[in-house]
Formats: sequence, structure tokens, C-alpha cells
Amino acid sequence: MTAASAAQQGGVVDDRAPIVTVEGGGTFVQGIGDASILQAALRGGLGLPYECSSGGCGSCRIQVLSGETESLWPDAPGLSPRDRRKGLQLACQTRACGDVTIKVGLDAACAPKVMPRVTRLELAGVRGLTRDIREFRFRGEKAAEFIPGQYAILRTAEGLRRCYSMSNLPNAEGYWDFQIKRVPGGKVSNALFDMAPGAEIGLDGPYGLAHLVADSARPVVCVAGGSGLAPMVSIARAVGADPARKLDFFYGGRTAADVCGEAHLAGLPGFGDTLRYHPVISSLDDPLSAGWTGLSGFVHEVVGRHFGEALREAEIYFAGPPPMAEALQRLLMIDLKVPFNQIHYDRFF
Ligand SMILES: Cc1cc2nc3c(=O)[nH]c(=O)nc-3n(C[C@H](O)[C@H](O)[C@H](O)COP(=O)(O)OP(=O)(O)OC[C@H]3O[C@@H](n4cnc5c(N)ncnc54)[C@H](O)[C@@H]3O)c2cc1C
Repeated sequence: MTAASAAQQGGVVDDRAPIVTVEGGGTFVQGIGDASILQAALRGGLGLPYECSSGGCGSCRIQVLSGETESLWPDAPGLSPRDRRKGLQLACQTRACGDVTIKVGLDAACAPKVMPRVTRLELAGVRGLTRDIREFRFRGEKAAEFIPGQYAILRTAEGLRRCYSMSNLPNAEGYWDFQIKRVPGGKVSNALFDMAPGAEIGLDGPYGLAHLVADSARPVVCVAGGSGLAPMVSIARAVGADPARKLDFFYGGRTAADVCGEAHLAGLPGFGDTLRYHPVISSLDDPLSAGWTGLSGFVHEVVGRHFGEALREAEIYFAGPPPMAEALQRLLMIDLKVPFNQIHYDRFF
């Protein structure tokens, strides 16, 4: 057993927890609740750049200059063959086994605005939204503190960890709502679908930088694809509380049977007026789309056609599968030259 896995199991690591030093940056301690160097850095208040916390995006690459580490997922796709040749590692999938020194460019903008914490939640209720998306309501003992658009890492009893975005608003009652798509053969989504009310799960969070920008008065465009509904609903709930703010909400599903989200927005002030919901389907020929007369095509194409250059004036949030997120990035950043600081997104690996 390595020192790090001893720590994960609550054992004693030498005499003390590993200290991680960022060359030219600062130091932080990797505590027992920290699954990775990334989480330890963020909990230590440092701005280590990241996006998905899932080993998929490669945003949290670090170079380990000295000391021993272990990889939580050696085959993580966020490292390219070139990265591996250069000896880079993913901070979200690496643990320190003792004191280490790493090289990474810190960015104060990536430091957590709400300090992530580890807690336990109990499943309070579940309801179906579509044939494969369900809304899960968990409750913890303390207030649920996060910024709309952020996500948390849920940890199963088997120790598997996956990211899920909150769909509700922060609240003093301790409710954490998630909208989760069942992935065929997926380990954690299926384990969640099998949970009964009263069952417990671990939560570590909040994380994520694609959250609501509180001090912007720009019109808002939210684009959700597939399982990306939750963070867009949370942002819409926060923005929609102000009827003076314009919000266009696009949901892209494959068939008419996959369309969802409207019921979550319908009760907000300005719905149908300043707050508009636009469902889009991509498989018009599918029997499940029979009778559909609404928008069709890929959701990024529809958004581009609907707004064109007017997107330069908007605050744009999007979440969903990597191909959708990458197509929107190209449209906004390259084709339309929308300023980068108005574009906020998470790719759901
Ligand atoms: C920022 C973010 C927010 C997300 N929000 C949502 C949401 O709101 N709703 C939703 O339905 N989904 C969301 N997802 C996707 C979700 O995290 C899961 O990928 C999805 O539920 C499938 O998980 P699974 O265990 O069922 O499938 P699996 O196929 O078992 O696992 C899929 C994912 O798990 C990770 N993984 C696989 N193997 C390993 C390993 N050995 N070690 C570590 N990680 C591994 C990879 O990221 C992989 O893509 C989000 C993802 C990210 C990154």
C-alpha cells in the first residue's frame, strides 16, 4: 500500500500529510479528504487552472519536478501522447505520496470563490424528466453553498467519483439537486438510478469556473445539450428571478422524446416574454420525433442562425457533450469573435 492509498483509507501517512510546493507559487497540504493534487490546491485557496476534474480535458496539466506521486487513472484521455512523452501529469488524477514540488502556471481567477468541502448527503427524492434523465434531490446537514453553474463530485460507496452539476439555487436548507442522464453501461449513473430514498452518497464541492457572472447586465443565452441541462437551469433560475434581464434558453435533444427543461423555467417571472425557451431536436427522422414542428438541427447551428452577430453583446453559458461544446466554441470564438470573457462553458466528459 502506498502512503497515498493509506491516507485515502484514513491511515497515518508517515507522521503528516504530504506538502505540495508550486515552484515560484506557494504551498498547500494534501489532506485525507483530498482525492487529488487539484482538489488539495483548490482547498488550499490556490488558483490551479482546471475545467472538468474528470481526467478528460487536460486543463490541469502539471509537471512534477521532485517527489513521488501516484496516478488515479493512468489512461486518462486528458493527456496526449506528446504530454506523456514530456512527463506531464493531470493534477485532477494525481496524488502526492510524500512531499512534492510541481510546476504549473497559477491563475488567481481559478481560485475557489466558494470553498469546496467534503460532506455526506441523503437521497430525499427522485423524479423522471425524460426517458433517461432523472432529477435527484439530496439533502445534507449544512447549507448548500455554490454559485449557479457549478458542479460537485459525487462519490459512491465503492469509491467511484463523477461530476454532476447542481440544478437548483444555493439554499440554507441543504438541498442539492442534480439532473442525471443514465448512460448505457455507465457505472455511476446506473448506481444513482438504482439508489432508493434514504441512501447516502459522498459529495465534494463545489467546483467549476463556468458559473454565473453576478455583475453583468448583458442579455443571457444558455445552451444545454443532453445531460447539460442542470447547470443551465440553475443559471436560468438565478437570472430569471430578475424580469428586467433578457434570457434565451436553448435545449438540444436527439428526439422529441428527449426534450426537457421547459417545466423548470415556466414558473419564473417573464417566462414567454423576457425569458424564452427554445427546444431543438437533431433527429427529425426518428419515429420518436413524429409530429415535431419546432426547431431542428444541431443546437449550435440553430443558436448561430437565431442570433448571429448579436451574440457579441450577450453573456453565453453552455454545457453538454464535448462535440456540442467544441462546435459552440468555434462558432463563438472564431466565426463571431465574441469576447472570451463572455463565454462560459463546461464540457461533460
Ligand atoms: C463538469 C462536469 C459536469 C457534469 N454534469 C453532469 C450532469 O449534470 N448530469 C449528467 O448526467 N452528467 C454530467 N456529467 C457527466 C458525468 O460526470 C458522467 O461522466 C456520466 O454520468 C457517466 O458516468 P458513468 O459512471 O455512468 O459512466 P462510465 O462510462 O462508467 O464513466 C464515464 C466517465 O467517468 C470517467 N472515468 C472513466 N473511467 C475512469 C477511471 N478509471 N478513473 C476516473 N474517472 C474515470 C470519465 O470521465 C468518463 O467519461 C458531467 C461531467 C463533467 C465533467
